[in-house]
Amino acid sequence: MKRLHTQESCPYCKGAGYFQLIVGGTEDCPACEGQGRTDHESPSQA
Ligand SMILES: [Zn+2]
Repeated sequence: MKRLHTQESCPYCKGAGYFQLIVGGTEDCPACEGQGRTDHESPSQA
């Protein structure tokens, strides 16, 4: 079984890697650890 790792833009921060805080400043996105991308495993695509 072959597993492909693809990186896609993080849905939480829209690929930015951080959130823009309303009060000002930014906060690192916990979902992608500030990278703006998340790893997805695609078992049978691509
Ligand atoms: Zn993110």
